[in-house]
This record gives sequence, structure tokens and C-alpha cells, in this order.
Amino acid sequence: MELNGFKPFPKFATDALHVGQEPEQWKSMAVVPPISMSSTFKQFAPAEHAGFEYSRSGNPTRNCLEKCLAAMEGGKHGMCFSSGLATTMTVTHLLSAGDHIISMDDVYGGTNRYFSKCAAKFGLDISFIDCTVIENVQNAIKDTTKLVWIETPTNPTMKLVDIAAVVKVVKAKNENIIVVVDNTFMSSYFQRPLSLGADAVMHSLTKYMNGHSDVVMGCLVVNCDDLADQLRFYQNALGPVPSPFDCFLVNRGLKTLHVRMKEHMVNGLAVAKFLEANSRVERVLHPGLESHPQYEIGKKQMIGYSGMVTFFIKGGAKEAGDFLKAVKIFTLAESLGGFESLCELPSVQTHASVPADQRVKLGITDNLIRLSVGIEDLNDLIADIDQALKIAIP
Ligand SMILES: *Cc1c(COP(=O)(O)O)cnc(C)c1O
Repeated sequence: MELNGFKPFPKFATDALHVGQEPEQWKSMAVVPPISMSSTFKQFAPAEHAGFEYSRSGNPTRNCLEKCLAAMEGGKHGMCFSSGLATTMTVTHLLSAGDHIISMDDVYGGTNRYFSKCAAKFGLDISFIDCTVIENVQNAIKDTTKLVWIETPTNPTMKLVDIAAVVKVVKAKNENIIVVVDNTFMSSYFQRPLSLGADAVMHSLTKYMNGHSDVVMGCLVVNCDDLADQLRFYQNALGPVPSPFDCFLVNRGLKTLHVRMKEHMVNGLAVAKFLEANSRVERVLHPGLESHPQYEIGKKQMIGYSGMVTFFIKGGAKEAGDFLKAVKIFTLAESLGGFESLCELPSVQTHASVPADQRVKLGITDNLIRLSVGIEDLNDLIADIDQALKIAIP
């Protein structure tokens, strides 16, 4: 696929490289933000300090990263957390017992587990619905609804949720309901939910944003000052903050996000097209294929595609297992979004915690394989998939 006509968000790369990184903030004029490991900071007089007191409430390295992340989403305030799920937990603390959350029937498994096994214990009421049908969202809103948590594309079935349409029906009912979009699958490079009306964007930075499979971290970006103040309060009060070293790594990963994402897009789409034309494959799910049922929604709200590709191999669990054992460049492992290509079987790996009947309903069958297409040489990736398909289905 050629990238002709692809237009990134204005200043994206410049902001990723420079926002929050200003050398003038350090006495040393360091071009790369130093790793500030200090857990505490000297004060001039009691409660009179230079901006930092204690590293849970604020840390210089984390600050650089948070500012950079905000710019990448075109937002005002960024906040980092020790994992994607720690981010979800912190947002949920905005609510009180009796409040209602709307989420999706195929939301990330860990998010589902957090809402249903942890948040529910504290008296929160959660509805998991199919948010691809906007009427479902409208009908699910109650007087007690405080939070709507959506994710698009979904994992692993690549369904798209129309972000602007969800925001419209939610805000028409009650403008105080907070709409959060988990933007992990697209990264800030291809989709900016704040510009579509969402109140907050969440990322598992573990995936594309860091992109090197060596950090677990999450973030939030919001525009509203009051919401940012509340979230910062919980960031400090709950304490799920990342280490300065990890912040350094993610800050560094962001510097090549725009370069990596273009490669992921080209490779992902090429792999999807190769699979779609292959007789050993039943069906391919990728929002950039015209065969995708919501291709038009994708065009409207995303400006490109990541390296996530899902396909149904002909046959069942045996063929899928044989394929996954036969690949040589793709690594059989969970997670996604790193520079390296990964593959996995959601029904027994990432989505094993989803009850069997629910998996069937969502279409997560034993022949559904998820690929996170990396940035290796495309010819090598295609040749690897080709040989593995031939071993799985002689
Ligand atoms: C991985 C992931 C999460 C959870 O993030 P962690 O960093 O693993 O805690 C949330 N949402 C999506 C879409 C993910 O892929």
C-alpha cells in the first residue's frame, strides 16, 4: 500500500519530539530529559518547593512524558499510571457506590474483569453492551450513569464504535457523563478521540505508544481543567504511578511513534490483503479492508490503521495451533504493538477469561488468530505466514 494521500495530524512528529523536552528546564541544559530517580525533593522552607515534593505526587521525568502525551492527543493534560488497568481503576474512582457505568460487551478482557470483579464489589453498577449499535447506548443510559467506557477498534474482532455518535447521544441525555475512549489499538497517531468529543483518552502505553515491548504503563489525556484536577488527586491518593526509569523509556519510545506507525500500517494492510486472497483462510478482519462492515466509520474517525490483523484460518483449533507453532518470524506471545510481530489464539490466550458462551456470541472461535504485525521486512513476514499456512493446511 502506498501512503499517498495519508495526512498525519499537524505537527504530530514535531510535538512528539519536543513538547515537554525543553533543555532549558534543566540547569544542565540536557537535550534528553534525565531520569530523576529521587523519591523526594529539597524544599526552600516548609511547604515551599521548586515544583516537586515527593515522586508519587510529581516527578520531573514523569512530567516530561505527561506533557508530551497530552500534545500527542491534541489535549491539555496528561497523566501516567503504572499500567493500563491502573489507569482504568483511577478513572473509576471518580464514581461512588450506586453509580452506573456503560461499557462494551467486547471491551478488553482486563477492563471487563476490573469492572465486573472489582468495581462491582464497591457497589458500582455496570452494563456491557454492543456499542456498535448507537440505540443500545441510548437505551442503556440511566439517571445514575456517570461513565461510558468505549474502545475502538475492539479486540480481537475489530469492530468499530462511532465515537462522535456515542458522544452525541450520551451528552444529549446528560452532559456530565464522562466518555472515555481506550485508544490503545490505534495510538494517537491514527485516532484522536478528544477531537471527536470524548472527555478522556486512555492508552495502555505498553502497546504501540512505547512500542518496544519493555514497559507496562498507562495514561490519560483530558482537556477539562476540573476533570484533570480530580484525576491528579486520585493519581496521588491511590498511588498507581510509574517509575521514572519506565517514564524515560516511554518518552523515548514516543520519539519514533510516527515512523513506526507508518510501517505498521503498510505491513498490516499488506498482510491483511495477502490473507484475504489466500485459499487457506476463511475470513480476515481489518478496518482498512473494504470488506470490513464498518469500513466507512473507520474512514471517518481514523486517519490510518495499526498493525492489528485478525483472521479465521480454515478448519478449527488444530489448524490454528499448527499455524501458530509453524511461524518462525512471528512470535507466539500475548500483547501487541511492539516493533516485533506477534501472533496468538485469543480463545485460549488473551480472551480465555471470557466465558465460553460469551466468546461464541462475540465470534471469538478456536480458528480465530490475532496478529500484531511488526515492522520487519514485509516480504519476510508474508513468506513466514505463507509457509506456516501450508504446514497447517497441507
Ligand atoms: C493491554 C490493554 C489494556 C491494559 O493495559 P495494561 O498496560 O496491560 O494494564 C487495556 N486496553 C487495551 C485495548 C489493551 O490492549
